[in-house]
Amino acid sequence: MTSVSLPDPVVRRARPPQVDARELERALRERVGGEVRFDAGSRGAYSTDASNYRQVPIGVVVPHGVEEAAAAIAVCREHGAPVVSRGGGTSLAGQACNVAVVIDWSKYCHNLVSVDPAARTCVVEPGIVLDELNAQLTAHRLMFGPKPATHDHCTLGGMIGNNSCGATAQAYGKTVDNLVRLEVLTADGVRFWAGPTSGEEYEAIVAAGGRRAGIYRALRELSHAYAGQIRERYPQIPRRVSGYNLDSLLPEQGFDVARALTGSESTLVTILHAELRLVPKPAAQALVVLGYPDIASAADAAPSIAPHRPEQLEGLDDRLITFERERRMNPEALRLLPEGNGWLMVIFSGDSQDEADAKARALIDELHGSEHEPTVRFYDDPEHEAELADVREVALGATARVPDMPDTWEGWEDSAVPPDRLGDYLRDLAKLYDEFGYSGSALYGHFGQGCVHTRIPFDLISSEGIGTFRRFIERAADLVVSYGGSFSGEHGDGQSRGELLGKMFGDELVRAFGQVKAIFDPDNLMNPGKVVAPYRLDENLRLGAGWAPRDYDSHFSYPDDDGRFERAVMRCVGVGKCRHSSGGVMCPSYMVTREEEHSTRGRSRLLFEMLEGHADSPVTAGWRSTEVRDALDLCLACKGCKKDCPVEVDMATMKAEFLAHHYAGRLRPRAHYSMGWLPAVAQVAARAPRLVNALTQAPILRDVLTTAGGIDRRRRIPLFAGQTLQAWAARHDPGTSGLRGEVVLWPDTFTNHLAPSIGQAAVEVLEAAGWRVIVPTQPLCCGLTWISTGQLATARRVLQRTVGALAPHLQRGAKVVGLEPSCTAVFRSDARELMPGDRDVQRLRQQTVTLAELLTDHTDGWQPPHLGGQAIAQTHCHQHAIMGYDADQALLRAAGVDLDVLDAGCCGLAGNFGFEAGHYDVSRACGERVLLPAVREAAPDTLVLADGFSCRTQIEQGGTGRTPVHLAEVLAAGLRNQPVRPSRPAAPAAADYARLAAVAAGAAGLGTGLGAVARWRIHRG
Ligand SMILES: Cc1cc2nc3c(=O)[nH]c(=O)nc-3n(C[C@H](O)[C@H](O)[C@H](O)COP(=O)(O)OP(=O)(O)OC[C@H]3O[C@@H](n4cnc5c(N)ncnc54)[C@H](O)[C@@H]3O)c2cc1C
Ligand code: SF4
Ligand code: SF4
Repeated sequence: MTSVSLPDPVVRRARPPQVDARELERALRERVGGEVRFDAGSRGAYSTDASNYRQVPIGVVVPHGVEEAAAAIAVCREHGAPVVSRGGGTSLAGQACNVAVVIDWSKYCHNLVSVDPAARTCVVEPGIVLDELNAQLTAHRLMFGPKPATHDHCTLGGMIGNNSCGATAQAYGKTVDNLVRLEVLTADGVRFWAGPTSGEEYEAIVAAGGRRAGIYRALRELSHAYAGQIRERYPQIPRRVSGYNLDSLLPEQGFDVARALTGSESTLVTILHAELRLVPKPAAQALVVLGYPDIASAADAAPSIAPHRPEQLEGLDDRLITFERERRMNPEALRLLPEGNGWLMVIFSGDSQDEADAKARALIDELHGSEHEPTVRFYDDPEHEAELADVREVALGATARVPDMPDTWEGWEDSAVPPDRLGDYLRDLAKLYDEFGYSGSALYGHFGQGCVHTRIPFDLISSEGIGTFRRFIERAADLVVSYGGSFSGEHGDGQSRGELLGKMFGDELVRAFGQVKAIFDPDNLMNPGKVVAPYRLDENLRLGAGWAPRDYDSHFSYPDDDGRFERAVMRCVGVGKCRHSSGGVMCPSYMVTREEEHSTRGRSRLLFEMLEGHADSPVTAGWRSTEVRDALDLCLACKGCKKDCPVEVDMATMKAEFLAHHYAGRLRPRAHYSMGWLPAVAQVAARAPRLVNALTQAPILRDVLTTAGGIDRRRRIPLFAGQTLQAWAARHDPGTSGLRGEVVLWPDTFTNHLAPSIGQAAVEVLEAAGWRVIVPTQPLCCGLTWISTGQLATARRVLQRTVGALAPHLQRGAKVVGLEPSCTAVFRSDARELMPGDRDVQRLRQQTVTLAELLTDHTDGWQPPHLGGQAIAQTHCHQHAIMGYDADQALLRAAGVDLDVLDAGCCGLAGNFGFEAGHYDVSRACGERVLLPAVREAAPDTLVLADGFSCRTQIEQGGTGRTPVHLAEVLAAGLRNQPVRPSRPAAPAAADYARLAAVAAGAAGLGTGLGAVARWRIHRG
C-alpha cells in the first residue's frame, strides 16, 4: 500500500465567515429553483434548534428536490458560505443551527424512493419523517427500527446526522446499525454512494482517481494510523454516540464509510439519499411496569431484565411523575403505575399477542419471589400501552417548565455508561447535583442501554450561573469518563459536547477527528464549530449573560408566566411537536404548509427575536415588526398549542397581544372592523335581518361587501335569524318553576343572532332537566371577536360590561351555560388574563360550564333521553384546549349514541380566520385534512355533531351537503322523541330582494332630494 500523508486537522475559525449575503442570495435565486429566503423572518425562525444555542443563519434554502439542494451547496461553496442541513430541527446540542446557509429538507425532500420488501431495505430522501416513513411501510409489514421520542416529526436525515436511537434501539440498535448505504455530497461537490467497502471496491475506487479516491485513501490511512487508539479508547457500550464513528473504518468493521459518516451532524458531508435496513413490524406488544424504591435501584435491576430481550427497557423516576401530576399531564396513565419511586417500563413484542404476553409473563414469573422483588403491573391492550408510553415520551416537555420551579435546560441531558454501572452512576450524579445546587432534577431514559436523560436548572443568564454551568459539565464529563461511558448516548455532540471530546477520547483521537474533517471538508464549510474545532459550550447561548430583552407592557396578565410577556414567549423549548403532520389540534397551519415559520415553534422564535435580547437579532422593529405579523398571519388562534404543546405555549393569546400593539394608533386590516365588530353589526342587523340578509346575499352587492369587509369572495356571509334568541326568550313562558335553581344561558352572538334555534333547544333541555333558565336580555358579548383581532381595550370594556351584568347571578352561585365553545372558552380562560384580580371574573371562570358539563356533573339523577344511532363529532378547537370533550362523550354514550369523535383538529375556519381574504386556501386545506372528507363519507343517517359555529359553517360551506347539529338540538329532539331537524335562518326570498331594491331606490331618492336641497342652499349662499 502506498502511504498517504494525512492532512492537518481543521482548526477553529477565528471569526464568523465573511460572506457577501446579497451576492449569495442573488446567485442562489438565479441558479437554484427552490425557495431562497434571506429575509429577517426566515433567519429568525431558524436561529435555534431544541438546544441552548442560538446562531442566526445567513439565509435559508428550501429545495424542491435533492438536485436543487446539491446545486445550492455548490453555490454556497463558490461564495465561501458554510452550510448546515436541517430536518425537524429537534437537536438538543446545537448542531442544527449555525451562521450558515440552512438547507431545510423537510418541506419537499421527503419521498420514499423505493422499497425492496424481500431484501427488507428501502431508499429515502433525507427529509422524510420517521412516522410517515413507517406508515408507508406498513403495507409491507416493515418498519425502520430505531424510534426517537420525536418520531412524529424527526426526519431520517436528522436521525442519520445524529445517529439517533430512542427506546426501540434496545432491540434494533442505533441508526448506524440500520443503514445499508448513504449517498453523500461533500462541500466541494464530490458525490458518491458510501457503504461497507470490500478490498476490491476500495481498489476500484482508488484506481478511478480523483477526489473520491483521495478521500478513501486518506480514510484508509487514518484508520491504520489510529487503529490502536480506536480499539483502546472507544468505549464498548451500547450507547456510544459521541465522536465520529472511526471504529467503523477498522478492517474488522468492513471499512464502512457510511457508518463512519453517521452521526457526523452535517460537519463532514450532506446526505442526499439513504438506503435503510428494515425490520418486521411486530404484530403485538405487552407491557410490564415494575416499581422500585428509587431510580437507582430501578437502574440496578435493568441488566437482569435485558436478557429477556425486550423491545424497550425504559426507566423513569418519581420527580418526572410528580411534575406530570402537577401539570395534569397523562392523569389516567399515571394511575396505572405500580407503587414505587422509580420504575422500569418493559415492552415485549411478538408476532401474536400470545407470544408477546408469554415473554412478559416469563419475566414476571422470574421476578416473583426474587430478592428485590419489584411491584408489578401488566398491560397488553394498545390503549394502556400508548398512554404509558406517553408518560415517558413527554418527559422533556414535562420537566422543562414546572410551576414554582426554576426553568430547566439541556446541556447534560444525554450521558450513557455501561448498563451494569448505571445505578452507581446515577447515585454519583445525584451527589454532583447536590454539590452544585441542582437537586430535584428528574431522571429518565433508556436504562436497558445505560442511557440517562435529565434537565437541569442551570442559570444561563448570569455570568456566575454560566460559570457554574461550565464547571458542572466538566465535572459530569469526568464522572462519565470514570465510568467508561459516553457524553452522548443518542443526541450527539454538537456544541454542547464537542469541546469535551478530548476527555473521553484523548488528544490523539481528537486530532484524528480534526483530520477526518480535513479529509472531507478542508475549507471548514460544513456546519463549522460543531463536534470538531468546536465553539465553547458556553458561547452562542440562546440566553447568555449579555441577554437583555426589551421590557414590553402587555394587555394580558400572563398569570402562569410571572405576569411577563417575555416569559410567555420563552415557553417554547423547541421540541418541535408542533411540526407533526397528523393527530391532535396543534398546529393546523404547519400541517397544511409544512413551513417552520407557520408552526408554533417558528412563531415563538420570531417573537423571541422581537424581544431583541441580542444585538444581532434580525427582528428589530418591536411590536411594529412585519416579520412577526406575517408569521402570525396564518395562526388560526385555535389554541391547539395551549393544550397539545408539552409546555403549553399559548400562541393565540400572544397573537392577540401582538396585534393589539402592532396596530395601536393605526388603521387595521378591514377584516378587523367587519368581523372584529361582528357583535355590534349583529345588533344593528337584528333590527331588519331580512333586509340585511338580502343585502349580503345579493349577487353584486355581496362581492362589494365582502371586498369592503376584507372577506374572501369564496366565502358566503352567514345569514341573520329573523328573531334573536334574546327576543324569543323575552316572550318565552317556561311553564316550570325550575326546582334545581337558576342557570344563565349565555346568549353568545353566534347563537343569539345566527342560530337561535340552538339556544331554544338548550332552553327546552335545561327546563326539562329542572332548571330555571335566565337568558340576559341586554346586548352583551364575551369580547371574543375583539380578542381574536387584537382589539384588546375594546374587548376588556365589552367583557367588563358583561361581567357587571352577570355579577348578581354569579354572586348567587348560578352556573353560566355556554353553547358556543369559543365564547365559553373566553369565560373559562381569556377573561382572567384580561381582567386579573376581578372576583366576578374569577366566579365567571369557575361557574361557566358547557351544556354537557352541566347535565353530567351538576344535574344529579338526570338521564339523557335514549337517542341511539350513529354520530360523528367535530370537537371545536377551543373546546379541545380549554374545556375538553369528555362530558359530551359521556353524555352521548349514556344516550346510546354510537359516537365517533373525529381526530380532525381545527376545522380551519376558526372564527374570523377562514373568512379573511388571503386565508381561504389554508382554511380550506385544514378542513380537507380530515373533517370534510369524514363528513362527506358519513352515511346519511349518521348525525354530524359540531357545537362550534365555525365548524358548522366550514362543513356547510365545504361542499358536504350536510347541516351539522349542536348537542342541544340532538337532546331536545330526543326529548320530543323526534328526529333532529335543525332550523337555520332562511336564504332571502324574492320579496326580500324586492324590499331591498325599494329601500335602495328610496335611499337614492332621498339622496337626490338632499342633494337638491344642498345645491339650493349653496346657490342661495
Ligand atoms: C423532546 C425530545 C426528545 C428526543 N428524544 C430522542 C430519543 O428518544 N432518541 C434520540 O435518539 N434522539 C432524541 N431526540 C433528539 C432528536 O430528536 C433526534 O436526534 C432526531 O433524530 C433529530 O432529527 P431531526 O430531523 O430533528 O434532525 P435535525 O435536528 O434537523 O438535525 C440533526 C443533525 O443532522 C444533520 N442533518 C440533517 N439532515 C441532514 C442531511 N441531509 N445531511 C447531513 N446532515 C443532516 C443536522 O445538521 C444536525 O446536525 C429528542 C429531542 C427532543 C427535543
Ligand atoms: S411550541 Fe411547543 S411543541 Fe412547538 S417546539 Fe415549542 S415547545 Fe415544542
Ligand atoms: S393557535 Fe393554533 S394555529 Fe396558532 S400556533 Fe397555536 S396551534 Fe398553531
